[in-house]
Amino acid sequence: MPESSPHALKRRLIDAGRILEHAGHGDMTRGHVSVRLPDRPDHFLMKPHSVGFGEITMENILTIDLDGNVVAGTAKRHSEVFIHTEIFRARPDVHSVIHTHPTHTTAFAATGRPMRALSQGGAVFAGRLPVYAGTIDLIRTPEQGRGVAQALGQENAVLMLSHGLTMAAPSVEAAVILCLSLEEAARIQLLADAVGADVPDFPPEQVAALRENLLRPDQFQTNFDFLARSTRAQPGRH
Ligand SMILES: [Zn+2]
Repeated sequence: MPESSPHALKRRLIDAGRILEHAGHGDMTRGHVSVRLPDRPDHFLMKPHSVGFGEITMENILTIDLDGNVVAGTAKRHSEVFIHTEIFRARPDVHSVIHTHPTHTTAFAATGRPMRALSQGGAVFAGRLPVYAGTIDLIRTPEQGRGVAQALGQENAVLMLSHGLTMAAPSVEAAVILCLSLEEAARIQLLADAVGADVPDFPPEQVAALRENLLRPDQFQTNFDFLARSTRAQPGRH
């Protein structure tokens, strides 16, 4: 199990940001990621406003409460903090929330089609991708945040129509890997649909078994650690 001290969590948040930036989830400075403090579940660490995913530092990470108040840190807070507060409030099982604007996921949401298991990542989300269509604008109020949390329900991901995605997971490792998996699954389904996907679906029990396997915490940890290493190793990145 990874260390869960605030210092270790901040280091993982920095890794998470770098991985999301590298995977194209940044949309300049607009994405955000948070992780709940294990010994203070009504507080969470969050990337600040005005910096990119790749610019999170030990110094600029904010500590925020479930009303959206900054309790530690001096950087500007994202106005969309209420996506995080309302999901953390509604879902005690969720310890990390990510909101991004990835290209293929956003295009996929616009098709209005259900996700199919046309790839292994697709098996994780097939038939279980709710859509929040309350607004195309930023989520700036607790009420709007509650709307996103309600649309999410008990799932890991909610599509936000003409906007992006929100991921909610038991760990920051899981949330990051699921964001990358969803974007790749959306890209594959868009490509397959564009040329006319006409393969039948695999039996639901096979899809469910694969899903269960892909959702194992050790899978998330292994893949997150790999991506943390490989993005760190790139020249010019740190
Ligand atoms: Zn947004």
